[in-house]
Amino acid sequence: MFFLRISVFFLIACLATSVRAADVVVVQQTHHTGWAIHVGSTNVAGVQFAAEELQKYLCKISGSNLPITTTNLRWSEIFVGLRKDLDWADRWQLPSKKDGYDGYAISIREGAIIIAGDNGPGCVYGVYDFLEHLGCRWFYPTIDSRDPEVVPKLKVVSLAATNWAVASPIQNRICNGDAWFFEMNFKSAKAELDWAMKNRYNAMGWQAAVSTGKRTLQEQYEDLRLAGILGELERRGMFIHGPAHSFDHFLRSSLYFDKHPEWFGMKNGKRVPQAGLGAQFCWSNPEARREFVRNAEAFITNAPLIKIFCTVPFDGGVACDCPECRKEGASNLLMLLMSELIERLERSRPDVQVETVGGYGAVPDPPSNLSIIHPRQRIVWAQWGRHHGIGYDDPKYDRRNLDKWRAAAKGGLTICQYYTDNFAEPWVMGPFTKAMESDRRYFLKHNVNAVYMLMYSPGYWWNHSLNGYLAGRCFYDTTINSRNEISDYATHYFGTNAGPALAKYYGEWADNIELSYRVRGDARNEDRAMLAREREELIDPAIEAAHKSSSIERRRVAKVAMLHSLAEQLCELHRQRDLVRARRIAGNFEAATRMLNKVRATTEDTLKLFLKIAKTDQGLIDENEVRGFITMAMNNWINEEEKAIKEKDRKPPMWLDRDLSKTDVKPDDPK
Ligand SMILES: [Zn+2]
Repeated sequence: MFFLRISVFFLIACLATSVRAADVVVVQQTHHTGWAIHVGSTNVAGVQFAAEELQKYLCKISGSNLPITTTNLRWSEIFVGLRKDLDWADRWQLPSKKDGYDGYAISIREGAIIIAGDNGPGCVYGVYDFLEHLGCRWFYPTIDSRDPEVVPKLKVVSLAATNWAVASPIQNRICNGDAWFFEMNFKSAKAELDWAMKNRYNAMGWQAAVSTGKRTLQEQYEDLRLAGILGELERRGMFIHGPAHSFDHFLRSSLYFDKHPEWFGMKNGKRVPQAGLGAQFCWSNPEARREFVRNAEAFITNAPLIKIFCTVPFDGGVACDCPECRKEGASNLLMLLMSELIERLERSRPDVQVETVGGYGAVPDPPSNLSIIHPRQRIVWAQWGRHHGIGYDDPKYDRRNLDKWRAAAKGGLTICQYYTDNFAEPWVMGPFTKAMESDRRYFLKHNVNAVYMLMYSPGYWWNHSLNGYLAGRCFYDTTINSRNEISDYATHYFGTNAGPALAKYYGEWADNIELSYRVRGDARNEDRAMLAREREELIDPAIEAAHKSSSIERRRVAKVAMLHSLAEQLCELHRQRDLVRARRIAGNFEAATRMLNKVRATTEDTLKLFLKIAKTDQGLIDENEVRGFITMAMNNWINEEEKAIKEKDRKPPMWLDRDLSKTDVKPDDPK
């Protein structure tokens, strides 16, 4: 690629009206006119895949299929490979390497485009960045076949001559897609890993199924291979973080409990298995630890794609309560167990990093004695059910537990984020950009080297993907401001007709994140007023505008409109609840009962709406959750209120922070 040569093709291209003189044209009217993709080090995972992705999407964009070649054409070529593959003349065209991980540099000039990764994944990200400059976007995994990726159709593929470089200060960006939990959905899992890579994650989180199921851990890993998942990860240069909650697999109750009950945890004076309502095994028992380490090693030496071996006590189990365990303390014993595992793996899997949990479940606090922690010990820290109104670097955030565990995590800290969780987070959620910006400052300030995005549960995949998209990109390229990405999202995804109204809509939800939480549990007059105004000014006009667009864009706008309707319905339910409470607190029990009867009907309507949205199967609401805990939570409240009215109890709820008698009353409310 000698940069002083003049391209005849380039001169012709300059005559086209849609092309500026400084633009580099790759395709004109479906003809690639001699351009080809020159692929570099194909022995490095990610490079060949990057070239194929470029070929695939350029073809979708323009209809032109550029050949892939390993020959250096020196002219009319898009080079896709590693920086080290280039000779000095081409390297000279690139901006200097950005400090960080999985970086790349791009140079666009006449006759030659260079996409050079610092490593394999960096090469793939470089191709995606290049395609994004042409208008491609990957906001959602391709699970809804009627809602495809955003790929523009262009007669002329051209880019302004320029160059730039990017790299991530955060080494590990882990996406725990919702299909990667327990009994995996392999088809969705593939769509999610593809989407994750496009949004700059470099690893997938895997939560294996529990040991009481049909498959051993090793069999589950082999299932990933047979389903083609491991192959898809390898092509991209991705790795696995996991298998997460898995202690029960390495000391299986079915294998050992009868023979060695003393290896298992004590609960209420009895040894119990590692399952369900049982307890963690007896971490102070050296024989039990030895067997655990032996089994863990047998697994991990046969699971090479796991590069962060994150193994965590089984979910929900308390620590062993035997006198010895109580004396030593659960955190100290967990760190001892992990040290033994790390030392064992130093010979058999020297490349693997070992991680366990902190601040969660059986180990809420770090060990009292930090010297017990192995220098290579990684910790994954999680605050389940976190409120995203306040980020980690906000002075109002209580950082004590996080800071303590960060000091304890000598081999590195992974912070588990719940931006993409619908189990504890709101059903209708705004973009968590406030938390993202603040959290990222904390990551950068303290060199936290892994972010872990937990997506749960599966029925919400569309609902939480926007936050997953924003977080993936912003934790990779820390110069991007997540709040500024919202209008890019709206215009690309909903189209130029409906996009502007929905950009404003999502912006308002991002700026008033409390609204999302109150819509879930405790909306007030101003929230209802806001939703009504948004209905009138933004949602209805967006629906109207989408009629001028394609059926795809109409379908997308309809998803937002459905969730907005759900938000309105929930807020109306809260209004009626507040009136029940206001009347009861005022001692007007008969009027409270009349209102409660209305609430019963509204609750049923709300559950019906939840179910209707879930049944569209577009990843908005999870049907299992509607039938399970959502129904339960809604009815529990009615039962409690009914009891309070019967007992003529005038006590306000403990959390009450406002005067309920100010709640709006509607003409058709019972008196
Ligand atoms: Zn014990």
